[in-house]
Amino acid sequence: MHSKFYNEAIFHITLRPQGPLLIKSGSEGGASVNPTLPDMNFVRTYRPDLGEVVYIPGSSLRGVLRSHAEKLVRSVNLDEACDPFLRANDENEYGLKPACLRGKDKSEGKEKIDGVRAYRESCYICRIFGNMEVAGRLKINDFYPRNGNPTTEVRYGVAIDRVTGSVAHGPFDMEVVTDGEFSGTITLRNFTLGQLGLVGAALCDMADGFVRLGYGKARGLGQVDFIFEKLEIRYLRKKEKAARSIISEILSEVVGENNKVYGIETLCDADTAKEFALPPAREGLELPGGSASPSGSFILLTGDEDGTRKLLEAAAPLWVEEVQR
Ligand SMILES: [Zn+2]
Repeated sequence: MHSKFYNEAIFHITLRPQGPLLIKSGSEGGASVNPTLPDMNFVRTYRPDLGEVVYIPGSSLRGVLRSHAEKLVRSVNLDEACDPFLRANDENEYGLKPACLRGKDKSEGKEKIDGVRAYRESCYICRIFGNMEVAGRLKINDFYPRNGNPTTEVRYGVAIDRVTGSVAHGPFDMEVVTDGEFSGTITLRNFTLGQLGLVGAALCDMADGFVRLGYGKARGLGQVDFIFEKLEIRYLRKKEKAARSIISEILSEVVGENNKVYGIETLCDADTAKEFALPPAREGLELPGGSASPSGSFILLTGDEDGTRKLLEAAAPLWVEEVQR
């Protein structure tokens, strides 16, 4: 299943800070070498077209999305979201799936398990985000500034010792982004409709201000706004003889101005679905306002912000269904 392409959803997102945002660069020691730098500075990179710019690394978005998705899944079924800080021999109350635990087992000489087994024996979260045994299917690119350089400013802070009332740490200065736009893409490949629903739910919660990003969340930093500029859904155009006839039926439907989104549980053949313990095949979900077009070897379905939100709302109950199975 992993070696084949079934479907892909690409979210084109614009992110806007709603107030101060700080994604710390790893080189905090920089201030001791160059005294003009703030103690905590925003992470930067060099882009040929933009020069030196602040940016939002995909890895920091991935971290908050994963931990929020874990919370959502645990609210329904504790066993389907493992605890990333758990070690192999720890006694724990949740996350007992064998493949999730295997990666944490550092002992020598454990035998390799194949990808099918690793997927089947991983929790719902690891099937999307990956663990040491199974590759993740969610790819988050770095987000770069759009429409000019974001506004940055330096804020000052102190930490107060709550017993003595004196300054425990600081004053220190930190560089925050207060305004601007960053754009990037988030890609989910070979997904079930429930997995699309969970990633969508986590993204919508972030867009609605429930999940904060970066440093100083407890101080009120890190609130962001997401705009779903565009959603692209791709299927392979090639019809496979060996696969179930449903694929060719779906593809001819899609070409015929059908704007439905299908999960891997419907697109793969029956044997694969059984091997990977996928949910039963189900009806596609409509992408309101979406339009389909064949492009090269793909069928491409494109939706706008409104349609994307409506699709994600329709997909959200399906992750609950899949996690409860
Ligand atoms: Zn896991």
